[in-house]
Amino acid sequence: MKFASKLVHYDPAPGDPFRPMSTPIYQTATFEQQNVDSRGEYDYSRSGNPTRHVLEEQLASLENGTRGFCFSSGMAAIANVARLLRTGDEILADTDLYGGTCRLFSRVLDRSGISVRYADAGDLQSFAAMFTPRTKLVFIESPTNPLLRIIDIAAVADLAHRNGAWLCVDNSLMSPYLQTPLDFGADFVIHSATKFLGGHSDLTGGAVVVKDASLAKQIRFLLNAEGSALGPFDCFLLLRGLKTLKLRIDTQQRNAAAIAQFLQNDPRIKQVLYPGLDGSAGNQLQRAQARGAGSVLCVTTDSVAVSKALVDAVRMFHICVSFGSVHSTISLPGRMSHASLPPEIAAARALPPDLVRISVGIEDADDLIEDLSEALSKARPAARSADIP
Ligand code: PLP
Repeated sequence: MKFASKLVHYDPAPGDPFRPMSTPIYQTATFEQQNVDSRGEYDYSRSGNPTRHVLEEQLASLENGTRGFCFSSGMAAIANVARLLRTGDEILADTDLYGGTCRLFSRVLDRSGISVRYADAGDLQSFAAMFTPRTKLVFIESPTNPLLRIIDIAAVADLAHRNGAWLCVDNSLMSPYLQTPLDFGADFVIHSATKFLGGHSDLTGGAVVVKDASLAKQIRFLLNAEGSALGPFDCFLLLRGLKTLKLRIDTQQRNAAAIAQFLQNDPRIKQVLYPGLDGSAGNQLQRAQARGAGSVLCVTTDSVAVSKALVDAVRMFHICVSFGSVHSTISLPGRMSHASLPPEIAAARALPPDLVRISVGIEDADDLIEDLSEALSKARPAARSADIP
């Protein structure tokens, strides 16, 4: 089946005699057993729940994996993968990652004696030099967040495996519609399902998908042992959101391409970061490993004050952290989603302070462009009068 068909053509309720078209919400903590010796498929929702099971199977199928697991958030999914490491192990991570991921790696895992090294995974030679015999997990995003650099997933998977490490790819920015990292050798794909998978800003969720049976067994063990699974109602919302994943992303991506083009030709913008722009860094690699550039783009204006005034002046873009929603959103990553970066990492990364991140929704592209244009006209005078550096 092609991706569009897979999104809606699956058994929504295995074994249900009433054959509902949508997966029922099994809002129950426990499942009664026939007797002490013969136990049913489910006994306790932390360990397994039918609504979650349908979602997990669906995500595994969309990511070309064999098993999927759903968590209460993207961070819970990442924490679960990190739990596979033991004291003394190291993580090698790309420098450009979601701030919360860096916070987990640098300020939580260190308590268990797990350390992290950051290096530019776009520079394969220097990245390769960062492996040590202790490196157990390589962690990347592609495109990276927020700078939208493209990392060669197959090459990094190869490096990781040659050094006896696993590769985990955070695929939140692409979704399995646009990119399936397991096809390129990744061992784990994780998602903040809060983003494109859900798509409606109405849930937080996370997912881990794997191909390998022994990794699946370990992830499942940890999910049950730590109790970080997604609840039945959120699983239902996610299943509902997933059905329109392709429709949403097709529209969002078309809108994003039009906006990127408009902004690139606007003299009030210094730089547009969007891997879909012809000739942009990473454009060729993105074409080779993904089926589109997505709908998140960033711009710089050369002035923090102008960027801030731009964010304040738009009307069609909600000022929000996160991305991937049907609503267009806008943010200043340095002050919002990436403010949780530990200071030493923030300094090393040199995130442009005037960086504006835009996640494009399903509104009419002309309305969005008109709004951005008007906001840009207001932004410079507003910045001057506010006299912000
Ligand atoms: N990965 C990326 C790329 C993110 O942007 C985020 C959150 O913004 C996360 C992971 C964490 O996901 P969640 O907020 O669902 O815990």
